[in-house]
Amino acid sequence: TVKAGLAQMLKGGVIMDVTDAAQARIAEDAGACAVMALERVPADIRAEGGVARMSDPGKIKEIQEAVTIPVMAKARIGHFVECQILEALGVDYIDESEVLTPADDAFHVQKARFNVPFVCGCRNLGEALRRIAEGAAMIRTKGEAGTGDVVEAVKHMRTLNHDIARAKAALQEGGDLAIRALARELGVDAGLLKQTAELGRLPVVNFAAGGVATPADAALMMQLGCDGVFVGSGIFKSGDAAKRAKAIVRATTHFRDAKVLAECSEGLGEAMVGISVSSMKPEQKLAGRAKCIG
Ligand code: PLP
Repeated sequence: TVKAGLAQMLKGGVIMDVTDAAQARIAEDAGACAVMALERVPADIRAEGGVARMSDPGKIKEIQEAVTIPVMAKARIGHFVECQILEALGVDYIDESEVLTPADDAFHVQKARFNVPFVCGCRNLGEALRRIAEGAAMIRTKGEAGTGDVVEAVKHMRTLNHDIARAKAALQEGGDLAIRALARELGVDAGLLKQTAELGRLPVVNFAAGGVATPADAALMMQLGCDGVFVGSGIFKSGDAAKRAKAIVRATTHFRDAKVLAECSEGLGEAMVGISVSSMKPEQKLAGRAKCIG
């Protein structure tokens, strides 16, 4: 589709969370392929608590005026009116995001009804293919946003890879019948599952997200097979945002070149302090909110 094609153009890039025009310019200068316009980065959403909603349109407009690269903005899961508003503002992509407080604990937005492309989070192939069936043009692994801990992003990427390998094996060994059985088990459309098995990857672009904080983290996710990375709190919660932003872009491009990775990891100053996911209670995790609150 046209929308999935748009997302293809972001491949190999870094999408950075920004809260104002100055940060957006730093991101663009560092070589970000897009920015995510937000009122608060995930680490602050986490720290401040309360209900997290779509940003003030004024904030989004300020960021749209500051840069030439695509501008994304977040809507709450299931909040189709926030999506209508973001589409009216002319954002380039909408992120239906678990980082905000879910507005519907049963249904995601029917994304195919919109002209603007959507990106959605996933923790496994089932979630990814359900979101694609709803019209998502791009997927990102959820990770655990606002922690600076990459462990959940790794888990979700490995789970996705494992699930895709299972789908490939099912198709090779049992054909359409086995695909239909696996589709029932995962709760997904059999046609999309077969397409995934044939391609050996998701049929849309898949970025890593949630806890990426260093050039090495970004390269790790790339080597695990993602198409690019989202960096949320990792840049503007660090000591030297401009330097770290450039280093993460370079590491994402040269993700297999350990010499380059060593160079761009050096002298970056303070990384975001972060919280270790293993020290968190289940209800403190954003990625699995539906299962904890709902
Ligand atoms: N509801 C909310 C708020 C969620 O965050 C998620 C996961 O993305 C789900 C539900 C699970 O939806 P599904 O089982 O359709 O993937």
